[in-house]
Parts: sequence; structure tokens; C-alpha cells
Amino acid sequence: MPTPTPLGIRVNLSVCPLGSNVFIRFKDPTYYPFAINNILLTYLRISDRTFVNQLITAHSYLKLLSWRKISNYFLLFSSFHYSRWIKKPIVWGKPTTLSIEPTTSCNLRCPECPSGLRIFSRPTGMIQEALFKKIIDENAPELTYLHLYFQGEPYLHPKFLELVKYAYERKVFTATSTNAHYLTEQNVSKTLDSGLKQLIISMDGITQEVYQDYRIGGSLSKVQEGLKLLIEKRAERKQLYPRVILQFLVTGKNEHQLNELKYWASEMKVDELQLKSTQIYDFENGSELIPSEEKYSRYILAKNGKWKLKKSIENKCWRMWQGAVVTWDGRVVPCCFDKDAEHVMGQINYTPMAEIWQNSKYQHFRKQLLTDRTEIEICKNCSE
Ligand code: SF4
Repeated sequence: MPTPTPLGIRVNLSVCPLGSNVFIRFKDPTYYPFAINNILLTYLRISDRTFVNQLITAHSYLKLLSWRKISNYFLLFSSFHYSRWIKKPIVWGKPTTLSIEPTTSCNLRCPECPSGLRIFSRPTGMIQEALFKKIIDENAPELTYLHLYFQGEPYLHPKFLELVKYAYERKVFTATSTNAHYLTEQNVSKTLDSGLKQLIISMDGITQEVYQDYRIGGSLSKVQEGLKLLIEKRAERKQLYPRVILQFLVTGKNEHQLNELKYWASEMKVDELQLKSTQIYDFENGSELIPSEEKYSRYILAKNGKWKLKKSIENKCWRMWQGAVVTWDGRVVPCCFDKDAEHVMGQINYTPMAEIWQNSKYQHFRKQLLTDRTEIEICKNCSE
């Protein structure tokens, strides 16, 4: 029998996903989303959870919007379509998204990543706190999404979670990607305090042997323990954020583990499982990383026996109107495909973003995208 209390009821249900002896706080509205989320996580299949997760994420995203951000987005979107129409780049707003690189350092050696392979021609380092704050202060009024990630492992930056907090306090929706080797008790607690809204965890195998085949030098048990700890501590605190997305790069070497992976993700109560296609540098002659299932591949075999991009290349790219990427040392590059910063549009340490965003180099790059995208090397292997 439920026991009435001044604020709610205590129920004894052995099948209840919130525990066998649950106190339901009817008069605490902040508790409802957490309780609903937990019930749904228990009973829904992983594919349905994706939908629930997207609703919860959208809720936090919309809460951080302002009229200034919305009108800026609308200006960017309309100028993008107008530019496509007149084949001339016109940009009416400021960046609505930014990726900022905390560091290029990484603990792993992934074979398709320049950071892992240590083949960058640009220097390795960590972003200075003062530079990060300058970028946020300058851009926060228009910024709707900040990805605190480009190359490297963000948790290696000693002040990483303080950077997240700084952005969150300025009402910026903040996400990051990690290989989850540093989700210790202390980092989990700081992550939960930071205001981070989305944490993307890369895990590309469900056995150590398959995992380390791509994530060279990585420990699967460390990743799994970190993820479990984060989800448990978040539940203990009755928090909904950060949303935990498990990202699995599907390759020819791990595609046989997909069923096992889905089961594990469901058991762990991961908020969303994303199966992503892998970018491969030398794909023309094929690669054992290209999966056999076409839906997980960016490439298809052409009639001439060579591999080509599945999606045909169009002379457009919304990303060039939407936002930019900033390296740890302040170089503004067009997008995350420019890993080695070959197309530096400006240096944000010395020039305001608004000026770089409209400069002749940026406009020339956009013009080339609208007229002949195949002229730009990085755009040839891009599915955008
Ligand atoms: S590689 Fe080129 S097409 Fe792809 S997102 Fe970057 S700029 Fe756009």
C-alpha cells in the first residue's frame, strides 16, 4: 500500500525501474522529467530511446535560445539559400555553431586520425583559458551550439571542465566527444557539475580485440567502466544531463558485433546509440575498413572497379554558413575535415571572429564551394 507523505507517496514495487521502494515527489516538478526518462529507458528499445533522447536534448537546446540567436540563425539560413541561387556568397549572420579544440594531444593511436598517427604539420598544444574565454565572450550572444572538440582527447586539457562551465554559464549549449579513458570518479563528478549537455563516447568494438584494432592503445574495460560510472552517478543525482551518446564507427572489422553492441548499450541504459560511417583517406582502391553493409559505408564500388563516395557531390555546403572550427592556437578553419589546418581563414587571437567570418579568404572559399567544390581537396572526401 502506498504511504501518504506531505509531498508525495512512497510505493513498493519490485518491478519499478526507479527501485523497489520509490518515493514519488508529486510536488517537485523538476523530478518528473528524470522519473519519466528512467521509466522510458527501462522499457523502450534502443531505437525508441533515440527519439526520447532527442526530445530531452531538444528541450535543453531550446531553453538556451534567445531571440537574437533565433534571428541570427534565420539570417544565416536565408543568406545560404540566396547565395546558392545567385551563385555568389552572401553571409548575413554570425556563426551559430563553433567547434573549439581543447588540445591536439591524444592517448590513443587510431589509424585514420592524424592526431593518433602523430602526423600533424601544425603544432600540438592546449588552448589557453584566456583565448577560450575571449572566443566565448565574442560569440556567445549568437552561439546555439558549441562542440568542445576537434582533434585530440579533450579530457587531457587540465581545465577542460572549467571551459565547459564557462560556456554553459554564458548560456551556450555545450557538447564534447571523448574516448572515455579519463572518466574517473573525480572527472565524472566534475562533468556532472559542469553544465555539459551532451557527451559523445567513442567505442568501436565490444571485445578488447576488436576495439583495440582501431582504437590502438585503448582499453575497452576503462571505457565501459567510465560510461557505467557516469550513468550511475547521473542517476544518483537525478540529473538528465549530460546526455550520453555511444558512438560506434562501423568498419569492416567490427560490423559483426552490432547485435551484441545494441544489447550492451541497452543494458547500460545509454541514452542513444549512433552507428556512424567511417571516413577513409585512401578509399579509391578499397580498404578493409569499408563495411560490407552499404548503409554503414560512405563509399560504393564503381563500375571501373574503384571506390567512390556514395553521395554525389553538390556545389553547396551549409556548414560554411553555419559555423567554423577553431584550433587550440586560435586558427579559424572552415570545418572538421580540415584536420591539419590547411585553410586558415584567420587567427582569432588577433582578429575578431566577426571580421574573419566575412573576410575575402572566407568568401573566396565559399564562392569556390558554390561554383566547383571538387577544386578543394578536403571537400572531395566529404559527405556533407
Ligand atoms: S569538407 Fe568542404 S564540403 Fe565538407 S564540410 Fe568542409 S567545407 Fe563543407
